[in-house]
Amino acid sequence: MSGLSRNEIIFLGLLLLVGSCALFFAARSPKSPYPDRVVLIVVDTLRRDHVGVYGGRAETPHIDKLAARGQAAPRALASFPSTTMSMGALFAGLTPSIESGNSERSLSWTSETWCGLSRVAPPGSKTCFPAGIPTLPEQMRSADFETIGVTSNPLLYRPAGFERGFDIWEEAGAPDGSAGPGNEGGSRLTQGAYGGTTAGSVLSAVRAALGKRSQDRFFLYVHFMDAHDFELAGVSYAEGVKRADAGVGQLLQLLDEQGLLEDSLVVLTSDHGERLGEKHPVEGRDQHFGNPPFDYLLRVPLISVPPLFEFPHYAARSQDLAQLILARAGALAGRPPVFLSVSEVFLSEWDWQTLRSGRWKGAFRRDGSRALLFDLKEDPGEKTDLSEVYPDRLNRMRYRVSILAREYSGSSSHQGIQSAEVERLRSMGDIEALDSATPRAAD
Ligand SMILES: [Zn+2]
Repeated sequence: MSGLSRNEIIFLGLLLLVGSCALFFAARSPKSPYPDRVVLIVVDTLRRDHVGVYGGRAETPHIDKLAARGQAAPRALASFPSTTMSMGALFAGLTPSIESGNSERSLSWTSETWCGLSRVAPPGSKTCFPAGIPTLPEQMRSADFETIGVTSNPLLYRPAGFERGFDIWEEAGAPDGSAGPGNEGGSRLTQGAYGGTTAGSVLSAVRAALGKRSQDRFFLYVHFMDAHDFELAGVSYAEGVKRADAGVGQLLQLLDEQGLLEDSLVVLTSDHGERLGEKHPVEGRDQHFGNPPFDYLLRVPLISVPPLFEFPHYAARSQDLAQLILARAGALAGRPPVFLSVSEVFLSEWDWQTLRSGRWKGAFRRDGSRALLFDLKEDPGEKTDLSEVYPDRLNRMRYRVSILAREYSGSSSHQGIQSAEVERLRSMGDIEALDSATPRAAD
């Protein structure tokens, strides 16, 4: 110290003090409880029972590794066994339904009905996704996240509305980068050239999209199609799932290499399951087109890092996910907290209306010609119709279906439906111990 003046020693001492104070406060100051980024991964057509962490039948090492760092919710359910209805529900936070008056026309598969949200669409709206409904990406953008979307499902290409709220939007597999106006959903799947929608193409689109970002605080939505397209690829369903899993692994690696996985909320789910040759008391439809919606079409994985749920046995339907993600991201903007309770899922299909409530599932043909009742706890494969064993229970469910069908009809005002929906933001219970569960805040 002999070479230093008294003032220099004081100055150095102060520097040391300031430095150690900074270190002290850096170590002590509470870190934001909210993530810098939210990554939503949708693996189209992924049955829960084919994911390794759920005891699945397919090899999914990357999804399993993700789950090991967070939470695999055991009771997530798709709100409908089709992409547009389910993704519409996820983005809008609303229950999809094709109850829109009782006309034949309202039950047809048109651009207005295929998201199941026509009851909240402004008059004359022709898009699948109604204007005026705040979407998950729009709400994330309002919370200052840059919004980046990469889809590979042609049903979600522009102009259906799923692109709304994204600052950067990529359509992997779209012939010219856009489906263009006038393409109805039914024909898009055949237009989507297989090859452009594989995980490899999705990853290229993600790389390009991330390259365009202006900040590291972002919401990234990525949609994989490999499990959906297993037949197009000429492989088994399990192999399709494995390919999607590899894509998820590459995506996470890509983010990790750029330091973008840290302080991120990562959520992985699916829009619906798939039928793989199962037999039932009624035929139903091939692939994932329910009628009625058997449970392997509804049970989907829901994996999140960090956990979405304080209590992992709570469940969510597709329409509950938006609020859960917004709450975890600190982006609810004064909205009421989400309360989850064990509740019901109502599925209104073209031929059947189905209510899944606790361990019971009742399905009713619209023309009244057939009704089914399953005990999901005793009979998870839905092999035994109990409608004649428990006629009272069946009738109670039929009555409830009639109430719900009216509630989701198009006659109510936009506002009326929305407040009813907010009230109904409850999760769907699965099979075990449902009656004992108590509602709690999601957060
Ligand atoms: Zn789908």
